[in-house]
Amino acid sequence: MDWKKQIKGLKAYQPGRTIDEVKEIYGLDKVVKLASNENPFGYSSLVDVFLRDSYLNHAIYPDGYAKNLRTKISSKLGVNLNQILLGNGSDEIIQMISRALLQPGKNTVMAIPTFPQYKHNATVEGAEVREVALNSKGEHRLDEMLEQIDNSTTVVWLCSPNNPTGTYITEKDIISFLDNVPEHVLVVLDEAYYEYVVADHYYDSLELLKIYPNLLVTRTFSKAYGLAGFRVGYAISSEEIISQLEPLREPFNNNSLGQGAAAVALQDQEFIAECRQNNKQGLERFYQFCDEEGLLYYPSQGNFILIDFGVNGDEVFQFLLSKGYIVRSGQALGFPTSVRVTIGSEEENKGVIEEMKNFI
Ligand code: PMP
Repeated sequence: MDWKKQIKGLKAYQPGRTIDEVKEIYGLDKVVKLASNENPFGYSSLVDVFLRDSYLNHAIYPDGYAKNLRTKISSKLGVNLNQILLGNGSDEIIQMISRALLQPGKNTVMAIPTFPQYKHNATVEGAEVREVALNSKGEHRLDEMLEQIDNSTTVVWLCSPNNPTGTYITEKDIISFLDNVPEHVLVVLDEAYYEYVVADHYYDSLELLKIYPNLLVTRTFSKAYGLAGFRVGYAISSEEIISQLEPLREPFNNNSLGQGAAAVALQDQEFIAECRQNNKQGLERFYQFCDEEGLLYYPSQGNFILIDFGVNGDEVFQFLLSKGYIVRSGQALGFPTSVRVTIGSEEENKGVIEEMKNFI
């Protein structure tokens, strides 16, 4: 078969160990997953009620336009229905953008380390990938990213808060970046962790969208909204850009339950505010632990923290796994001596910190 040459040797997404696998391997009764930045508090009780009482007819296709969910997002954010693109997770949004704009002869600019799906999809499409290392504070080096842009650049990816560092881009920096990006380039601003941000000087991306027609913002229901299993993400941009991407969407890319659950979840902003507050407290607990132990970390605006143990991250990962805590080794994330830990509930944070102390 005549496979695209760029997909030769490309690896499939490697899912981490599941809770059930770890229970079985280590003979544990209780295993906590702090590996994929899901919400330890699950989702709003309104979603529970919806799921229990929903009388959706699953024998018919879902609404292919997801009108109800679209309408809820549009009124919450104050954008038109046609400025919204819904995806089967923001993963699918990244894929649609890549399919639309990347091909051999074109290039794309991104930070490294950052969310790996930008590079993965660009590689599938055969585009050249230009990666700019984060600075020592784990931040995007926006000036250097600008320098990488040329006439063949079609997409620039910004991730704020950045996965895996949790670092964010300030308002001043993003404005000066957007002022200097040529208009033929689409700037994708991935805000998967937007709801967790508490930083001062964080920009208002919806305001930026009004000023910069070549900006597209992605968000998701997988993180703070606690609906990762339903796979609902979305993009907001100008109607012109969204209309170019819409034809690349699968006809029924959001299933009926996911559409309904996301629409209901959006109504409970009190739940989101509580999760943001719990996350902030959880992060502070990890900072305190790291400061006491002299471990390096990046202050995070996400619901995760990257901690440098100064040894092979796989060792820390394996140790914690054997104690019933699934985290992510930094080996696969571009930080070989670190692990990335999702902020859990108070009890989960306490437990994993105890085990980290035992490791040290
Ligand atoms: N962007 C970032 C920065 C992420 O960390 C993730 C999930 N790990 C995604 C996008 C994809 O999220 P989803 O497809 O669940 O919306």
